Amino acid sequence: MKKNISILGATGSIGASALKICEIFSHEINLIGITTNKNIDSFLKIIDKFKPKYAVISDGKIMYDHFKSHTIEYNKVKIYSGKEGLKLICADRENDIIINAISGKAGLFPSLEIAENNINLACANKESIVCAGTLLNELCKKNNKRIIPIDSEHSAIFHLLKDRNLNDIAKIYLTASGGPFFKLDKKKWDKITIADALKHPTWKMGNKITIDSATMANKGLEIMEAHYLFNIDYDKINVLVHPQSLIHSMIETNDGEIYAQLGPNDMSIPIQNAVFYPEIKRNNYNRFDFSKHLSLEFYPMDYNKYKMLSFAFICGRKGNVFTAFYNFLNELLVNLFLNNIISFIQIEEFMEKAIELFEKNNDFSFMSISKENIKLIDKQAEIIVNKLIKELYGNNNSICIEDYNSGIWI
Ligand code: NDP
Ligand code: MG
Repeated sequence: MKKNISILGATGSIGASALKICEIFSHEINLIGITTNKNIDSFLKIIDKFKPKYAVISDGKIMYDHFKSHTIEYNKVKIYSGKEGLKLICADRENDIIINAISGKAGLFPSLEIAENNINLACANKESIVCAGTLLNELCKKNNKRIIPIDSEHSAIFHLLKDRNLNDIAKIYLTASGGPFFKLDKKKWDKITIADALKHPTWKMGNKITIDSATMANKGLEIMEAHYLFNIDYDKINVLVHPQSLIHSMIETNDGEIYAQLGPNDMSIPIQNAVFYPEIKRNNYNRFDFSKHLSLEFYPMDYNKYKMLSFAFICGRKGNVFTAFYNFLNELLVNLFLNNIISFIQIEEFMEKAIELFEKNNDFSFMSISKENIKLIDKQAEIIVNKLIKELYGNNNSICIEDYNSGIWI
């Protein structure tokens, strides 16, 4: 029987790879739902090609401006908009699995909805796991489900840990390509432009994750993601620079043996494995070629250089309130950088000051993670960044932080 799947964020980079899987395995997959945020042209092309049961444009205003309606029928496919539309897909039990490939905190509401509705979640959206890891884990436990990771490192660990006892694991190693500035002296970081930061050496991805890879906040989010997904202590999580990005991650068992997962750097593989889990399907993607010289390099992570990663460990150890704060803050800072309001180096400078300010606010120290509290933490990130921007530009600036926060998200 065919698997019914939906792809949230179908117009993005992971979305495109997921659609490729639907095409290759068209005899086994039935694509029933897709979403975009604003990218109507690509979205309509996907509808023409795949004819899903329904489709959603998350940004209701964009939908209305374009079609002068909040629901329409296009090419016999119903198109809905906004949060209600997203809710419709995430609650549809006809889905065997839903891929969350939305970028940023906008993916949080769908991840929670999917988990609440007891539908299998294949999650590329690491931000939702970082913001609501404890809540998602509670929901999964209640429903006897696991989140299936798509992030390449976590997909590797997920498969390496299969049928193993967590007590036998001494360490996990998350590999990092090093990003575009691995060889650039930190003294030169104040000259980094937006274009420099958007050039990733190995992966072609959306803008937000590309900037996160340059600051190493991406690896910061990934250590938190690993902690929530695998229930593994931060003391056991290590990060290594591996510029070839061929080893996707490793585990070390108590006896000192290391097990690594190697493969071509193609996101299609973790997506395919998530969709068909636990089955591993045959495919025709590029294979590893051992007939050519192959070198695999590893460098220890420089935590003094990549402060965003050090801050991630600090926040991770403080718990879910701080991991959510780290994520919300990072998203705001990335948007401010991409809009030329702060420089690249100011991302980590603002993060450091913001964590200090957040720690001083006792209202948050003992908070548990609920939907309501997540909203409060997000608001607090906004208030703190506003304060820091005022310090930078003075009280008369016209920068409105809310403009840099994404719309519907919880
Ligand atoms: P992209 O920016 O390429 O795509 C993001 C998708 O989410 C698009 O469909 C976009 O719609 C949609 N979207 C953006 N903002 C919103 C919003 N506010 N509400 C609803 N939908 C929204 O990102 P990527 O595909 O690179 O990344 C997606 C997720 O996967 C991220 O969480 C990332 O960290 C993770 N990931 C990505 C990897 C990669 O190789 N790209 C690898 C590992 C993890 P629109 O097209 O209209 O903007
Ligand atoms: Mg990754």
